[in-house]
Amino acid sequence: MTLPKTQVGFCYDNESRKLVKVTDLPVKQPTRGEVLVKIEGAGLCNSDLHVLSPRGGPIDLDGSNDKQRFVMGHEIAGRIVSVGEGTETTFKEGDRVAFFITHACGQCLDCRLGRDNTCGAKAYGLNQDGGFQEYILVDKLRTLLPIPDNVSYEQACSACDAILTPFHAIQKAKDVLTNPATKVLVVGVGGLGMNAVQILRNYPVDITAVDLKPELKESALKFGANRFGTSLDQITDEDEEFEPMFNLVFDFIGSQGLYDSYYMQLQRRAKIMMVGLAKPTFQIHNFLNAMREIEIVFSFGGNSQEQLQVLEWISLGRLKPITSNAPLDEVPKYLQLLKEGKVVGRVVFQPKL
Ligand SMILES: [Zn+2]
Ligand SMILES: [Zn+2]
Repeated sequence: MTLPKTQVGFCYDNESRKLVKVTDLPVKQPTRGEVLVKIEGAGLCNSDLHVLSPRGGPIDLDGSNDKQRFVMGHEIAGRIVSVGEGTETTFKEGDRVAFFITHACGQCLDCRLGRDNTCGAKAYGLNQDGGFQEYILVDKLRTLLPIPDNVSYEQACSACDAILTPFHAIQKAKDVLTNPATKVLVVGVGGLGMNAVQILRNYPVDITAVDLKPELKESALKFGANRFGTSLDQITDEDEEFEPMFNLVFDFIGSQGLYDSYYMQLQRRAKIMMVGLAKPTFQIHNFLNAMREIEIVFSFGGNSQEQLQVLEWISLGRLKPITSNAPLDEVPKYLQLLKEGKVVGRVVFQPKL
């Protein structure tokens, strides 16, 4: 197969701190230990907005990012088009693969214990080259996961983060989810939260969904929420029988106002799973939470084993990601739409569209 020498991509530029379109990015040939992947889909995410926001920048846990420019897009799926000569791998040309975002080493203690989401600091599209381009050279073959035959590239992209992140938080609370008496509150059902409702529907629990946007009611109920409201007060006003005392909260917003609206609506020993990063800091109540032995657990991303499970759940039809396609050239347009809150589900960019 003849490969082009250059390609188009959208990069984060460290100097201007803006998105720039580059038309002459090199398409590199793989050497030993590397494969070249033709990108078939790259999802757009709120984290992209964060990177491009005035206080954002590359998402880089230890500050070691030294790239002047990197291609954005961290929810990536594609097809292997070339394997470097002498590479020891079971992957071959034509294989369909989804990317695990973290460049996990496979050797450190975190990786060996299956927590590869917290290994190192390098991540596709967040501080290293990612998916908003046509081809990507991969040297960490461990970050490639096979896509089941009946799962589309678009679905595989949403498994990289938008489903994986709630899936990981939900797995951390699995002990409570097998009890049919468990009452779950999902705060924020825009993107990740709506996927959380779908995942939670696979457990025998009661699900209440809250979101400021009333138009999300229909989807929330369709995907398995037992009730929906723009606030907890609205729900109790409409249904006086319903007692809003929860055992488990998944907070996909992470703001003072929303936390304040539910922290007294918890049963003793309830768990708050904090996933949303809307505000970098806010106050939690020491005494009132301590007396009831409330647990607050923070959750970030998910590990590669869970990502394989998510792909399997999609393959089995237990999860139906909401996706739409757009041509790669329209990255700037959709970033603006996402900023304005006008994007529903996952927009997946395709170079060939
Ligand atoms: Zn993302
Ligand atoms: Zn590691």
